[in-house]
Amino acid sequence: MTRNQSDWHPASWQSMPAAQQPSYPDQGELDRAVADLSRLPPIVTSWEVDGLRDHIAKAQRGEAFVLQGGDCAENYSDCTSESVVAKLKILLQMSLVMLYGLKKPVVRVGRMAGQYAKPRSADMETRDGVTLPSFRGDLVNRSPFTPEDRIPDPQLILRGYERAALTLNFVRSLIDGGFADLHHPEYWDLDWVGHSKTASQYHDIVNSISDSLDFIETVSGRPLHLTQRADIYAAHEGLHLLYEQSQTRFLPRRKSWYNLTTHFPWIGMRTAALDGAHIEYFRGIANPMGVKIGPGMTREWLQDLIRVLNPNNEPGRLTLIHRFGAKAIEDGLPELIRAARETGSPVLWVCDPMHGNTESTADGTKTRRFDNIVGELESAFRIHEEMGSYLGGVHLELTGENVTECTGGARGLNDADLARAYKSTVDPRLNYEQALEVAMRIAGISRH
Ligand code: PEP
Ligand code: MN
Repeated sequence: MTRNQSDWHPASWQSMPAAQQPSYPDQGELDRAVADLSRLPPIVTSWEVDGLRDHIAKAQRGEAFVLQGGDCAENYSDCTSESVVAKLKILLQMSLVMLYGLKKPVVRVGRMAGQYAKPRSADMETRDGVTLPSFRGDLVNRSPFTPEDRIPDPQLILRGYERAALTLNFVRSLIDGGFADLHHPEYWDLDWVGHSKTASQYHDIVNSISDSLDFIETVSGRPLHLTQRADIYAAHEGLHLLYEQSQTRFLPRRKSWYNLTTHFPWIGMRTAALDGAHIEYFRGIANPMGVKIGPGMTREWLQDLIRVLNPNNEPGRLTLIHRFGAKAIEDGLPELIRAARETGSPVLWVCDPMHGNTESTADGTKTRRFDNIVGELESAFRIHEEMGSYLGGVHLELTGENVTECTGGARGLNDADLARAYKSTVDPRLNYEQALEVAMRIAGISRH
């Protein structure tokens, strides 16, 4: 399959079948919202996007590790100081633990500042004989089950852009103000609930890093500037193509088109059809990008995706995020590693141990078991190593809050605990303690 870059423009996807797009009742209102968004300034810059691509190229060579994490779907109501700070803290804490254990730079990528649109298994939802459009995330409609709330509202596209910009603005200010300074990891301390084994292990790591920093600075006689800034990049599923298109700009300096809503957009499992609109849109942008792959992905399909999305075999451009589930990974992953290798194109392998491990409890609550999450991760590390490949990152759904959505972990949450603090309207997330425990497992610091 060949496609020419000259046939591409930010709206060329519109002539192809576009899965998972909302149907708006008022085309005029939609057109006005899209035109408004197209005029607004970008959320990220091409310099930052290029910087992330260089980091991903390093991770492809085994010289760095990518930590990607955040909510399944961000809510507009969670665009608050507390929630953003909590997310930033958990990502910083996890990256510190991983840096310490893996002895490699950790590239932090939040599922944040734009993770507002969700794919759904059905367009419509029926409750008690009433059928309404499914909730597709705050970018599209509202979750209460009423006709007014569920009708897609074009104004929400603009509200999403604004919240993404507010979120990233706050993250950047915190980082510029020294929040991520390795000399002051106490800024990032979350409120540990009572005594926790994870907390004491974390504090040991922090003390050990502070001691090493002091030692190096004393010996060298100057502060270590390199360690003072921690960049955080933004990522979201590039699902709602009008949103993505509206902020896609040509940069003459780079002679390329960039999606400037985010640094790293990814293509979800349900929208990776080769002849579909999402692949058409993504092939034309210069951002580093992810593709979710898992059960059902064939070797030919993957090879075609790699050829279409990265025809010039550019380093740093393509990340494959595999999400099989703790059991299916053994059978599914090796063939895809071989298939990707045959193309000769560089890819970054990232494991998402969340989306293949979702299950329902007896009362129908969606959950994931900590042991399955860690089990899939451990299999992923082993399989890549056995095949001479490199697992260069992890993709997690997590929150900096003390929710009860996934079971297991150091506190041994069980199905009966889930009701206590289940907040997600979509997929279950690791709470901060479970997330930090996963980081420790990845770092090889805590093993059962
Ligand atoms: C997600 O990342 O929330 C998601 C829907 O994942 P996937 O496309 O892998 O199912
Ligand atoms: Mn999810």
